[in-house]
Amino acid sequence: MNESRTRRAVAEVSRLLHERGWVANHDGNVSARVGPDRIVCTPTAISKRLIVEDLLIVVDAEGRLVAGRGRPFSEIGLHLAVYRARRDVGAVVHAHPPHATALGCAGRGIDAMPIAEAVVSLGERIPLVEYATPGPDAVKAVEPFLALHDALLLASHGTIAYGADPEVALLRTELVEHLSRILLCAAPLGGACALPPESVATLLQARAKAGIGPPGRR
Ligand SMILES: [Zn+2]
Repeated sequence: MNESRTRRAVAEVSRLLHERGWVANHDGNVSARVGPDRIVCTPTAISKRLIVEDLLIVVDAEGRLVAGRGRPFSEIGLHLAVYRARRDVGAVVHAHPPHATALGCAGRGIDAMPIAEAVVSLGERIPLVEYATPGPDAVKAVEPFLALHDALLLASHGTIAYGADPEVALLRTELVEHLSRILLCAAPLGGACALPPESVATLLQARAKAGIGPPGRR
């Protein structure tokens, strides 16, 4: 994807985060790597509803502003950590989708997927990253999870999901929120049933075979 198409995708995904109700106020941020030392991202302190291509900024691999008039957002360190850990990742979406964030605020990750397709798409589980103060501590907290997972729940914070391009990062965010909603709907009914372990193993094999993402813990 060239830089101008990527910029269009970043702006589109940003507006969608607002439209879906996955961010409020100035929350959330989207970035995409367009070169080894060039990352297009949303600027800080603006609603994702208002993001258009011209407002996007460019930072280098250290998070320093290279182009654009806005300022980098404070959570840029989380995005840079993903790019450092995963050469295959071209885009990162961080948001506060209410159902997924509710799980994270309750100190819960998704330890078992409630539906089969989700295992193929995102692996065996979506881990909860323990709360850490935003900044270097939060970066240190996510780092151990990045190699094996494509989406994480951040305790008392929100979600971070990443993939080859902004569309994939958005789809993964969408799936995390959808699964969280399913789990919360199932909770008053006695909770979602776990998938049979042998089926999970087969689904993980299918995931690895399709080259969708890291194979997960198994
Ligand atoms: Zn946040």
